[in-house]
Amino acid sequence: MNLTDNVINIKGVGEKSAKLLEKLGIITIEDLIRHYPRNYDEFLIPAPINTAREGEIIAVEGAISRLASRPGRKHIVTCYVSDATGALKLVWFNQPYLVKMLKPGYRYLFRGTVKRDNAELAINQAKMYKREEYVRLLNNLQPIYDLTKGITSNFISKSVNEALKDIELEETLPLSFRKANNLLKINDAVNTIHFPKTKQDALLARRRLVFDEFTEFLTALRELQEKKNEEENRYRITNYTECEDLISNLPFSLTSAQKKTFDDIKKDMSGNTLMSRMIEGDVGSGKTILAMLAVLAVVKAGYQAAVMVPTEVLAKQHYEEFCERLEKYGVRTELLVGSQTAATKKKIYAKAANGEIDIIIGTHALIQEGLEFRNLGLAVIDEQHRFGVNQRKSLKEKGLKPHILSMSATPIPRSLSLILYGDMDLSVIKEMPAERLPIKNAVVDTGYRPKAFNFIRNEVANGHQAYIICPMVEGSDEVEGENVVDYTEDLKEYYELAAFRAQDGLKINVEYLHGKLSAKEKNSIMERFASGEIQVLVSTTVVEVGVNVKNATVMMIENAEKFGLAQLHQLRGRVGRGKWQSYCIFMKGSEGKDIDERLDILKNNNNGFKVAEEDLRLRGPGDLFGVRQSGELSWKLADIYADADLLALASEYVKGKE
Ligand code: ADP
Ligand code: MG
Repeated sequence: MNLTDNVINIKGVGEKSAKLLEKLGIITIEDLIRHYPRNYDEFLIPAPINTAREGEIIAVEGAISRLASRPGRKHIVTCYVSDATGALKLVWFNQPYLVKMLKPGYRYLFRGTVKRDNAELAINQAKMYKREEYVRLLNNLQPIYDLTKGITSNFISKSVNEALKDIELEETLPLSFRKANNLLKINDAVNTIHFPKTKQDALLARRRLVFDEFTEFLTALRELQEKKNEEENRYRITNYTECEDLISNLPFSLTSAQKKTFDDIKKDMSGNTLMSRMIEGDVGSGKTILAMLAVLAVVKAGYQAAVMVPTEVLAKQHYEEFCERLEKYGVRTELLVGSQTAATKKKIYAKAANGEIDIIIGTHALIQEGLEFRNLGLAVIDEQHRFGVNQRKSLKEKGLKPHILSMSATPIPRSLSLILYGDMDLSVIKEMPAERLPIKNAVVDTGYRPKAFNFIRNEVANGHQAYIICPMVEGSDEVEGENVVDYTEDLKEYYELAAFRAQDGLKINVEYLHGKLSAKEKNSIMERFASGEIQVLVSTTVVEVGVNVKNATVMMIENAEKFGLAQLHQLRGRVGRGKWQSYCIFMKGSEGKDIDERLDILKNNNNGFKVAEEDLRLRGPGDLFGVRQSGELSWKLADIYADADLLALASEYVKGKE
């Protein structure tokens, strides 16, 4: 077996599972073994029942009593399990066969998460184990993976195990370096991350894998930035008349941080060497307009410009905004995204090549082979942390090396930004537009849900809109958490009933959005939300990146405990973009002191830098089984905050190799 072989070559993986794995982005054997666990499940010796604590996972063993069954839309089975120390309620939905299986008076072993059920504690959907089966799991860490319907963690772990029997990964680091820096052999690291004996082992494995992620990234980065200062400015832009006109026609005036950044851009583009600038500014600080100004100046000087963004939804949104604001200057803007037909793309390629297009705004589609420019003078990369280094490089190579303007909302401490952005010049926007009201935050438990629904209803009645974020697309038996499909169904019902009760005829259009919809469907939903036709959008985190609907004033996040703080901050940034008071409701799906501590950081800080700092302080380096930051720079494991020391080490290593 080779790393590049299809997963179908693994024993036990058939055609059907291969198809399902593909949904997780797993096609080759390498993809599979690099699909690291999201977390581990630890099977401990069954505990005395009176030690059950809300929010914690417990295994208990005891005799059952008071077995009852209630048929209905959700068939409910309940019973109590007791030992010498107490009794605990067990509740199952939609598993009616349990009534026949369970025998009152007999002893069983159950395991699950303890929840509050009115006045008592209970386990919902407890898993039942035979003793000998449980003993086998005991004191082992069972990997938990990101899943899709039809694939279980167990299946993935078995397949990985099969694959790893046959594969030996090639070592790239010298032994002395590994020894000196406590880095495992790559082959051991990959094996251990899937099947650690202890959390300590898992951490050590992770250390090596993070080091490799950083090394790969930094190596590519160095190639990307080779000697930019010696690169002669072939596109000298000195005339900014139209830009001044655009600024004076905006419905707002630029903040002083925006003005200062625009000055930086002008100085770069009119200088002796090419621009290579990074704009770092919190979500909603107004980076788009700066890109637009730079683009306009370049186009008016006779060159082309490209704007690359990470999602189609965002591309469309930028496209519309650019068309609207730049129309009067006679510039020709086009959209280029993956979901367009081959024929459409071909036409655009032709126009870009002969100069009939001035600005192309698009997704990864921009770096595909067919696209060539007549004279690309500027490449803008929005939300640049979403792109891999190689993708950024490809865009840069589209022309005869254009000016580069990157933008990011990821707040990065100065010391790290030096490594990550290397040679790039940095403009930081620390200030928010003045008309903004700070977002009001609330951290609540699910008991608050009806209140929240009514709150949103009121906002809609006042002409506003809301986002509700759920962690999952569809329901799952294995993973707990709200899902957008069922949630939307329930919410629609709730609002119909509410309108009936209030007799006010308020009709609320609730729709859902998630990553598994086709690009066309996603675009259409997002468009209808942007136009106000949809008032409440239930979505997964696909709306996280850059989307701008000013009229939305409520962001409610279900199972907020399941997301990283940086990600929650990004999500919150979807509201508070207009002049209205906006609200963010963090809904906890489970309880715990650490959950409260983390969410309180968001409640008390609206500033992204502050959130990142506090988050790191709380987690401390090495706390890696908490909620991971997601989406950062397309790394699987690495976290620039928690792994800052490894980033520095990797940086030294890459420099030393030259
Ligand atoms: P981000 O920095 O997250 O990309 P955007 O560029 O999308 O933010 O800007 C968010 C919103 O703020 C947009 O609707 C934009 O028109 C508006 N905006 C930008 N600059 C200002 C300003 N100086 N005053 C008021 N509103 C502004
Ligand atoms: Mg943006």
